[in-house]
Amino acid sequence: MLYRVILNEPPTILMQYSYIDNSLEPKWHAMTPAKVKPEIMHVLQKAQQKLKKIENQDKNCLTYESTLLALESATEEVENAWGKVSHLDSVCNSAELREVYNEMLPLVSEFFTKIFLNANLWSIIKCFSESSAVKKLSKVQERFLNEVLADFKESGAELDETSKKRLEAIEAELAQLTQKYSENLLDATNAWELIIDDEKELKGLPESAKEAAKEDALRKNQGTLEAPKWRFTLHAPSLHPVMQYLDNDLIREKVWRANSSIGHVDPYDNTQLINQILKLRQEKASLLGYENFADLTLKRRMAKTGDNALNFIKDLHQRIKKSFQDEIKNLEQYKAEKTKKPIDRLEPWELAYWAEKQRKELFHFDEEELRPYFSIDRILNGMFQITGRLFNIEIKELNNVETWHKEVKYYRVYEKNGRLLGAFYADWYPRESKRGGAWMNHLLTGAQGEAHLGLICGNMTRPTQQKPALLTHREVETLFHEFGHLLHHILGDIEVKSLHGTKVAWDFVELPSQILENWCWERESLDLFARHYETDATIPEDLFKKMLAARTYLSAMDTMRQLSIAKMDLELHINYKNSAKTLDDFIDEALNNYTPEYKTKPPSLVRRLGHVFADPTGYAAGYYSYKWAEVLDADAFTRFKKEGILNAEVGIDFRNKILSKGNSSPAEKLFREFMGREPNIDALLKRSGLF
Ligand SMILES: [Zn+2]
Repeated sequence: MLYRVILNEPPTILMQYSYIDNSLEPKWHAMTPAKVKPEIMHVLQKAQQKLKKIENQDKNCLTYESTLLALESATEEVENAWGKVSHLDSVCNSAELREVYNEMLPLVSEFFTKIFLNANLWSIIKCFSESSAVKKLSKVQERFLNEVLADFKESGAELDETSKKRLEAIEAELAQLTQKYSENLLDATNAWELIIDDEKELKGLPESAKEAAKEDALRKNQGTLEAPKWRFTLHAPSLHPVMQYLDNDLIREKVWRANSSIGHVDPYDNTQLINQILKLRQEKASLLGYENFADLTLKRRMAKTGDNALNFIKDLHQRIKKSFQDEIKNLEQYKAEKTKKPIDRLEPWELAYWAEKQRKELFHFDEEELRPYFSIDRILNGMFQITGRLFNIEIKELNNVETWHKEVKYYRVYEKNGRLLGAFYADWYPRESKRGGAWMNHLLTGAQGEAHLGLICGNMTRPTQQKPALLTHREVETLFHEFGHLLHHILGDIEVKSLHGTKVAWDFVELPSQILENWCWERESLDLFARHYETDATIPEDLFKKMLAARTYLSAMDTMRQLSIAKMDLELHINYKNSAKTLDDFIDEALNNYTPEYKTKPPSLVRRLGHVFADPTGYAAGYYSYKWAEVLDADAFTRFKKEGILNAEVGIDFRNKILSKGNSSPAEKLFREFMGREPNIDALLKRSGLF
């Protein structure tokens, strides 16, 4: 009932809302769990009133403003306020926040579902679309109208009442089940730790990883400076060095077993949830007249149908499967030579370890040698300089702006010598209250010409007491990747907010992010940011050459890993419904020839695949998008390679034709405008050394 009280309060008190704050510097400290319920109830109620007004207007005087724009505005405040709640749920998770988040989630999800099932609203929008007023719409407004019509249809607007009710229930249930799946991942990851008290056990592990493990133990009151202990977890910066470098087979096995059991073991077992989620997604697709969930989801994406996406994956599989088998055989042979034992299959916890050893030997290249050149502050500065030059922007850090955690930084983006384009937060280090992985999100979309607000998050190697945060090359690529997504949002410049920035087809959304990773591989750009943290030297030529030579090492395996996830995802959303097999048997069959054969069979990734199951839709039936967009990014980068990787003319062209355009035109058209032709897969195969 609290929300009623707030509703009746005068405007001066309303100013104290925290989640409802459309400024570029929201007050994070005020966003307490206690305020979630009253404020979300308040915005929901306000939005309902706005929707009522749209429904009840005179059908003879419908305008763009009174229909499409009014609808956009009705949902915007809910999206912005709830966006902040779910953002905090990702970066400052706590029992209190989680409780109220879960309490409000069904209401918010119901609100959005009901909009599209609202018959009065649908008849107003349809009526407007058939009126003469549409003749006056601009091209982008017309695109907006068509997208909204499609949104309504794909969300069940034309269903009968019983089906609508059922769809509504499905959406609500999906929201809850996927949230639970996601919580299980975080909880299972945090529930595990390994404390080592004998340094001898850590042989092989790089100093950086040892140091981080020691400091982590101290933070957990384990060990002292004189008698240190080392703490390992399943968070990426702790997990990966162990799997890649640690000589002790038994410890690696233990860590691998713990990691692969995420989502398998009570109380965090996701099996049941997966089956329920898949069933509901299929039911939803059937209700809406689609053969399967992939067809429903991909209809407005570049791939158009589930089968097209699946064929894309199968085609790539054909092209690389020979290289994939060769790489595995090579590695098995290498291990046999080194251990003086007969050739045999690898154990899954041996793969990264022996791959690293072989790579070091083949290319005399140790990834760790690069770390001193990748201190996070220099990388960020270099990245800002490069993108500044390419896209004619300037990025400035502001120190006095409030954030959600003391490690989070805040920046503003300006047109070079010009107006403010937007602002963003950067949150780079792991915390227990923060979910894993790296991501970008938007917090505010301004009108055309106004500033936008966004954020980028990651779980990077921390600074230690002696050294700044020195990253791996993969982590550097991740910084560029997320920043690419962010620029897609900040540089968005079209007249319709609903079509802004990253709100594009999902198999196109990774183009701006992945293309930026290319600048982590070019001498000219690396020299701008890859400087030794102590001596300021650039990466020595021989180290750079080794890094390039090693780039395509095990490239087929790497590609195959992505293809296998994409295949599993698509098969689950296309063919699982017709199968009598159990989840695991079905996946086994679908991935035949897509995974290496090991001595110990690893459990499927399906129980810890947040991309596909931590959101009602998310990357479901869409994991293939990464590879799809890699085709686009490798291809688009050939223009930079040809015309100059720091060539501002090409940069501006990319900004004007892709980054600024959002979803104002179909993705294939935007790509064609930048490249002057259709996408071509050759550049990707060449870059991966698979051509
Ligand atoms: Zn991405």
